[in-house]
Parts: sequence; C-alpha cells; structure tokens
Amino acid sequence: MVAGLATADSMTNPDQMFANAGINLIKARATQVDTNKKMVTLSDGREIPYDKMLLAVGASQVVPVIEGRDLHGVFTLRAVPDAEKIRGFLEDRKVKKLVFIGAGFISLEMATLLSASRPDYYDITLIGRRAHALPFMLDTELAVRLEEYLVEKGLEMKMAHEVMKILGQDGSVSGVELATGERVDADMVVVSVGARANLELAKDIGLEIGRFGIKVNRFLETSNPDILAAGDCVDKEHFVTKKAAPGQLRGPAVIQGRLAAKRLAGYGIEFPGVLNASAVKLFDKTVAATGLTEAQAQDVEGLETVSATVDSRSKHGMIQGTKPWTVKLVFQKDTQRLIGGQILSDSQAPAKEIDTLSALIFGGKTITDLTTFMCAGHPDCSSEPSLEPIAIAAEQCLQKL
Ligand SMILES: Cc1cc2nc3c(=O)[nH]c(=O)nc-3n(C[C@H](O)[C@H](O)[C@H](O)COP(=O)(O)OP(=O)(O)OC[C@H]3O[C@@H](n4cnc5c(N)ncnc54)[C@H](O)[C@@H]3O)c2cc1C
Repeated sequence: MVAGLATADSMTNPDQMFANAGINLIKARATQVDTNKKMVTLSDGREIPYDKMLLAVGASQVVPVIEGRDLHGVFTLRAVPDAEKIRGFLEDRKVKKLVFIGAGFISLEMATLLSASRPDYYDITLIGRRAHALPFMLDTELAVRLEEYLVEKGLEMKMAHEVMKILGQDGSVSGVELATGERVDADMVVVSVGARANLELAKDIGLEIGRFGIKVNRFLETSNPDILAAGDCVDKEHFVTKKAAPGQLRGPAVIQGRLAAKRLAGYGIEFPGVLNASAVKLFDKTVAATGLTEAQAQDVEGLETVSATVDSRSKHGMIQGTKPWTVKLVFQKDTQRLIGGQILSDSQAPAKEIDTLSALIFGGKTITDLTTFMCAGHPDCSSEPSLEPIAIAAEQCLQKL
C-alpha cells in the first residue's frame, strides 16, 4: 500500500462476508474476561457471554528501548493504519532519506518496493545487527549474494551494526547513531526488529504462558478448558527441533484458525508444529526458505549437518528467458533427514517449490529418498529433469556422507 501496489480496500474483505455467514461481527476492544461468569467485557462497556472462547489477538511490533524512539517520523508497520500514516508522512514531508532498522523481510520488502516505485529518488539505508540480511531464512553464502544484488540496485546495507540512538531535531527524526559512533541522516526511520505476542488479556485471565506466547496443546487448547488460542499470540513447537519457536507468519495462523474451529466442532486433528516457510520478493529476486538454516541447525541446535547448494534455472536451456535459481538443502547428518531449504531465484516459481521442500520435511524424507525425487518437466515451465536441483543437491549430499 505504501509503495502503491495495494490499497486499503484491496487488503480487506467486506464486513458483509461475516453477516452472510451468520457471524455477528462486533468492532470493539475486549478489555476483560471473567472466566467464572464466562463473560467478556468490551471497550464500549458491553458484555458478551461465551461457552467457548478463541483468543487470536495477534502480535505487536517490537520497538527497542532506545533514545529517540518517540520522535516524529519514527514508524513501525503492523496494520493498515500504520501503512496510512507512513504513506502520509512520505508524501507530506517529501521524504528522501530513509533508514530501516532491522534487515528482516518486512524492512527489505518495504525498502525495495519504495525504491522500485521511485527509482533514483529515495536514499535508503538498511541497518541490521546480525552479520547478514534475512538471518532466519538464509545462510551466509546466499545472504551475501542477495546483499550484493540489493547494493547493486541502490540500497545501502549496513550489516553487523547496532543502532544506539535515534537522533532528532525540533521533535522530528533527523538520523540514527550507530554503536561505532557513525551517524546516518534520515528524514524518516522505520523500525522492524520483530514482533511479540499480545499477552495482556491472556495474562489477566491467568492463562499459562510459554516462551513466545500463550501455551497451547496440539489441539490449540490453553490451560483453561473453555479457551483456545491461535495465531501470532501462541507459543508454537518447531517441527524439527520440537522446541518452542516463534511462528509469527500467516501460514501457521491460517491453519491454526481452521484447526481451532475444527476442534470446537469435535475433530481431533493435531497441529504438527511450524517450519516457518516464508517467501519474499525483492526487486526481481524471490527468496524462499523453510525449516532450519544450516547456521541455526549447527550453532543454535548443535546438530551435525550435510548440505549442498545447487545453481539451476527456471526453464530448459533451449528456451529463451530462462532465469537462474539456486537451491540449498540442509540435512541432519545422523538421521539423514531433510531439515531445511533455501531458494534464491530470479523467477517467482520458488515460492511453490519451497512448499515442496516443506512437504518433504514434514514427510521425514532423507538424502537417499530425495536422490529419487522425480519432478514434472516441461521445457517452458521447469528446469530440465537432469538439472532438477532438489535431486542434484541430494546426490551431492550422498557423496559427502
Ligand atoms: C508488515 C507485515 C507484513 C507481513 N507479511 C507477511 C507475509 O508476507 N507472509 C506471512 O506469512 N506473514 C506475514 N506477516 C505476518 C502475518 O501478518 C501474521 O502472522 C498474521 O497476520 C497473524 O494472524 P493473527 O490472526 O494471529 O494476528 P493478526 O492478524 O495480528 O490479528 C489479530 C487481531 O486481533 C486484534 N486484537 C488484539 N487485541 C485485541 C483485543 N483485546 N480485543 C479485540 N481485538 C484485539 C488486533 O487488532 C488484530 O486485528 C506480516 C506481518 C506484517 C506486520
């Protein structure tokens, strides 16, 4: 919306949709829950009784506690009103110099969309405290290729830098100061360093809280038998590590929403855990990833891994317009199971290809299984079967064992 690709209307469904489905939609904040009387109090004073309740209160953007965070011109992006404020500020202030704090997918996507919307107009700097951009999606070798591309396209990438202060003049933002003492000028600063589950209501109710959100079992039931919870506000289990993991993405939220509804209707389907598959389009490149990166597997989980990175292409070489794409597969060495995949590509197909990798991880597939993985092939819509990167990466890993 900020970059002109979507509007507030195109981003939302009409309220009529709920009425048509026989759902009573109330627009108010739930401020209190009395679990004895089974009553929810709303911000307008109304009280709504319930038999069963689903808490799906989402998450909020994290704003680091640093000087200058309240200055005019410092923004976070969560919902449509934030996007409207950002767009208004960009237009009213004729913003040219933009600093993004954080180098995750929200910062990168916003920065690239704005840059592409007015080429050669904005002066954009991304500052990330980790060594490379998209640290939860890409390992270093692919992140470096991506960063080089973004720099070529005109973005300034300051990785492994910490913002210590947001600087201001007359109440408005004027730049940021890094831990090194370096200052970067800015007319506007967007902070995007992660999201934290909204837990106020859950804590008031006395629900058990896990590491990243409301604690739920595999049926999305909380510690209160009449309350379920789903989406960004709940603690999730990582499918590979079986440990608590943040999973603040649309895929898990949608599936958990459906699963909670099914549970209320009497089904016993379990939530399998998250792989946090995600995709992001940055200028003409698409990045997609699922499961663990090799760095997460080794450094955080202490797993021994085998991996391979394969350069391939979107179509047969004989067809014009083939585009390069690169796949990295990460396997756990002792089980030989696939635990992660990354794709960096100039075509958009990888968003679906990463879903193939997710399915293979959920299916517990191993290196040898994937050496016989056969894909549909057509000269104009796939790489040659002989260059199909999933099977080739598996072949290479087999050689490394
Ligand atoms: C800028 C941005 C881009 C994103 N892009 C992607 C993407 O490309 N792919 C992807 O997978 N994910 C993306 N996400 C994440 C995705 O939007 C979330 O994971 C998803 O919306 C979570 O759904 P949810 O229903 O759990 O929470 P939300 O969508 O946040 O919904 C929670 C709702 O509860 C309301 N609420 C909170 N407290 C109360 C209360 N006390 N009373 C009443 N209502 C309350 C909130 O106002 C909100 O409407 C993005 C997030 C952001 C911020």
